[in-house]
Amino acid sequence: MHPPPSQTSAPATETVIIPTVLSEVEVPTTTPIPIPERAQYTLNVNLDYTNKTVSADQTIVYPNHSSETLSNLVLAVVPNMWPGSFNLTSLSVDNTPISEYTLSGQKLELALPTSLAPETTVTVTMQYTLNLPFAEQQDPSVERPRIYGYTARQVNLANWYPFIVPYEAGTGWVLHDPWYYGEHLVYEAADYEVNLITDPSVVVAASGYPEPAEPVEAGVTRYTLTAGRTFAISASPEFQTVSAQVGDVTVTSYYFPFYEEPGQAVLDVTSKAVGLYSQRFGPYPHKTLAAVMGDFNDGMEYSAFYFLPRDFYNLYDGKPMNYLVFVAAHETAHQWWFERVANDQAEHPWLDESLCTYSELLYYQAYHPEQASTWWPYRMYYHDPAAKMDIPVYAGTGFQPYTNATYFVGAHFLEDLRARIGDEAFFAFLADYAAQMDGKIAKPQDFFVILRQHTSADISDLIATYFANAY
Ligand SMILES: [Zn+2]
Repeated sequence: MHPPPSQTSAPATETVIIPTVLSEVEVPTTTPIPIPERAQYTLNVNLDYTNKTVSADQTIVYPNHSSETLSNLVLAVVPNMWPGSFNLTSLSVDNTPISEYTLSGQKLELALPTSLAPETTVTVTMQYTLNLPFAEQQDPSVERPRIYGYTARQVNLANWYPFIVPYEAGTGWVLHDPWYYGEHLVYEAADYEVNLITDPSVVVAASGYPEPAEPVEAGVTRYTLTAGRTFAISASPEFQTVSAQVGDVTVTSYYFPFYEEPGQAVLDVTSKAVGLYSQRFGPYPHKTLAAVMGDFNDGMEYSAFYFLPRDFYNLYDGKPMNYLVFVAAHETAHQWWFERVANDQAEHPWLDESLCTYSELLYYQAYHPEQASTWWPYRMYYHDPAAKMDIPVYAGTGFQPYTNATYFVGAHFLEDLRARIGDEAFFAFLADYAAQMDGKIAKPQDFFVILRQHTSADISDLIATYFANAY
């Protein structure tokens, strides 16, 4: 509350006493500067859409919240998996230029000039350019299409900037090898400020919230993302958009011309799913959500952002039991299971994929209850119930056995679990799991510890049926 200004205006003759010596003010010199809760990423990015290049100036303020003193840092540099794509031009740590580092495949490792004690920070500054690869279609039965790069009508920046991978005390840096399908990266939550310059004719979909109030220089769009896992950008001069408001969340569907009907359907499904999952699992974590038509055939989740494959737009027939609908519901659910609660996507892919697949059923039960029972056979056109769901991504013998185990067998487990413990305990568990693991990286043990806080039912037979490991 502010008092009316007339009462505080000083008479012109009043003498104002200003302390002239600052050192007279007692400043406790031993108080440590609080270190940030999460790593702070600042990226100044110039995307040259015509030439398919990016130049970036990046700063990471990294807090060591582990219990160990760190002597090195490991960053994932996924663009370096494509020869000639990633070109590092400068690298400094706390303003000390670093000339000795190893960059091999997706891994950048550097020795810290000064070791990093627990609860202290280090600042990594780097400049680099990206020559975006042409993301040609690959055999989808063998491996995921490449997303990072460009197509005839789109530039996609996914896992495009170097990021510090999670550090686990006792284990070390967590950076798994890539695999033909599924995901292999593990993300700590971090805060992002991305200042983007690009061709004004290009429409940009991004993970972050464009800050209209920020005084940024002309031509620069500032995006912010708080407690995000990974910042994605998709740009195209052809994008058309429709938006809707769900509470304080703005959902936007980005699609190519002549796809108005599926583009609108994606907006409707995503908006409804945000509303439903907010009730079921707790609040949506960001202010925006971009649902983006990918010029490739894969769906993929990022922070406040997901891709849907173009084939699903082509196949959309206006009916609710449709790949476009249930995969939109699935990718929206990743904003809880991936974004709020992360997991090791290589070692424990079931933790997010089973919940997101089962969330599709929740969507139908809420909005198309007459269709809910047909979701099972329609979605699971192949299903091997004997498979165990808790496999690492590397254990599947192909994309189909992998998705059968982690998506389909996983959804059956959740259905049986819900029937065993009842709706009340089941949904209380899911909301509590999201709350307790919010911003963290969950392990299977966390899932079961929190589950058992909500039920005393014996589920040992379900675990024996569905899991290879004992929990
Ligand atoms: Zn998924």
